[in-house]
Amino acid sequence: MAQLIDPFARAISYLRVSVTDRCDFRCTYCMSEHMTFLPKADLLSLEELDRLCTTFIGMGVEKLRITGGEPLVRKGILTFFEAMSRHLTTGALKELTLTTNGSQLAKFVEPLAALGIKRINVSLDTLNPEKFARITRWGRLPQVLDGILAAQTAGLKVKINAVALKGFNEDELFTLTEWCAIEGHGLTFIEVMPMGDMAEATRLDQYWPLKDLRARLAERYTLTDLAERTGGPARYVRLEETGQKIGFITPLTHNFCESCNRVRLTCTGELYMCLGQEDMADLRAPLRANADDTILKTAIRAAIARKPKGHDFDYSRQQVTGQMPRHMSHTGG
Ligand code: SAM
Repeated sequence: MAQLIDPFARAISYLRVSVTDRCDFRCTYCMSEHMTFLPKADLLSLEELDRLCTTFIGMGVEKLRITGGEPLVRKGILTFFEAMSRHLTTGALKELTLTTNGSQLAKFVEPLAALGIKRINVSLDTLNPEKFARITRWGRLPQVLDGILAAQTAGLKVKINAVALKGFNEDELFTLTEWCAIEGHGLTFIEVMPMGDMAEATRLDQYWPLKDLRARLAERYTLTDLAERTGGPARYVRLEETGQKIGFITPLTHNFCESCNRVRLTCTGELYMCLGQEDMADLRAPLRANADDTILKTAIRAAIARKPKGHDFDYSRQQVTGQMPRHMSHTGG
């Protein structure tokens, strides 16, 4: 089957799939404390998710990242990972991975590792238990650290994703960096995007541009820019003193759109072709319309044909325009 190529000659090889809008944390920058979640009927069933992902894999997707909400709170999620791992076995899928808050990891890492998952991203903004409880509202740091340890023990590579928040984890820049060096974890910083239910003043107060974070890092380390590209919104540097690779994700800036290889699917079957634009295609209707995949494939091709050249806005304007709904995951990490 012909590969998915967009109008700018970019091959679509990466699909990020949100399997639920639910989460067991309520990170202040992401969700409000009292969330109204989607009715179950709106969500794709695990069988529907399988069918959709399998169709994308048949059309050239080689890397699948499972996210949420919190993917590991979706009931039956292991069955889904198990189903997807058949594509690893055939070689059609090169990588199956997930982004998690780590709360359920201790329970899931062993089966996940057995299914062929080799790397995971764990979101962790602070190593201070009290601050962790404050930012996640419902999370407990020791549980996440146990999960990370279990992942290491199971042989998984862990990358930590930390949202950069001025006045919150600014003072932990070096602690987090050193901890990751000691533990052998990758580390990526994410610039905060305007969502969640922080008051506007707090939000602006907490905006810590990654160029400032990077400059702070350069006070202690020698930073070498790396040419490495993942097709996503991350740039990488190496810290010469430790050999660590540090990533910077500035989700809403116009970064490497020319090499963008990815699309994002929400748990309701909406396909977003660009991180920074609202245009999306509903794949649930064509999926449910017919057990045959012909209509679905046509809808996917039509959506990819609409993939824009790049973002059309600039985070420095501090606008919420172009923001995606929260039931999909928004960052590249
Ligand atoms: N629950 C999983 C987790 O915690 O990794 C997956 C979903 S979570 C929405 C994915 C990533 O988005 C996390 O690293 C989280 O910190 C990040 N994120 C959430 N809200 C954000 C915001 N307003 N700005 C930047 N990153 C955000």
